[in-house]
Amino acid sequence: MNVDLLLGKTQEHLVCLEGTNHLLHKDMLRDFLRLREDARDAGFELSVASAFRDYQRQESIWNAKASGQRPLLDESGRPLVFEVMSPTEIIFAILRWSAVPGGSRHHWGTDIDVFDERTQIKGDVKLIPSEVTQDGPAAPLHNWLDERIAASEAYGFYRPYETDRGGVAPELWHLSYSPLSVGLLESYNFTLFRKNIFESELILKSVLLDQAEEIYQRFMLNVDLP
Ligand SMILES: [Zn+2]
Repeated sequence: MNVDLLLGKTQEHLVCLEGTNHLLHKDMLRDFLRLREDARDAGFELSVASAFRDYQRQESIWNAKASGQRPLLDESGRPLVFEVMSPTEIIFAILRWSAVPGGSRHHWGTDIDVFDERTQIKGDVKLIPSEVTQDGPAAPLHNWLDERIAASEAYGFYRPYETDRGGVAPELWHLSYSPLSVGLLESYNFTLFRKNIFESELILKSVLLDQAEEIYQRFMLNVDLP
């Protein structure tokens, strides 16, 4: 296994999604295009808000949140008050919505965040629960996806963050391509996870190292399976 691929430190397995600047795993592109075509037939425009994200990008998200420069959100997506939080509270609040750099499924190119471009404006998409549930603009798309996934007609795409397992918050917009991602998660291990943090310059690194075992179990391994 290419360790750099697991950590978001290579792009050699990726291709660009035509008409966008999003990079996807080359072995996933065909099935994504099929799913998008079926969505079109059903009246939706299945679009990518976020696909491959490299280590550097995840690191800048982490450091912005860990230093209070970017808002931390509670369970419902409302801002928390950074100034009154302990370092441990800060890292667990970040982890609810953002992965530790090196531990993001977006590093693999097999996972994408999606929205419905027929009902949502690209620049306004926030990827929060209210967009995808009840009367949210992407709710019809996700109801359609639910049916396709349940019928095994989603070409291998499924939701790793469908239920609240006490780790990452439910993220209906996050789809994963199981023919590739299941094997990638299996090839990941705790030694790699910890070593990557140890060698990093992440803000709150020492707190991360203290809690590494729990974080690995709760936020990486603890996902819904296809
Ligand atoms: Zn995502």
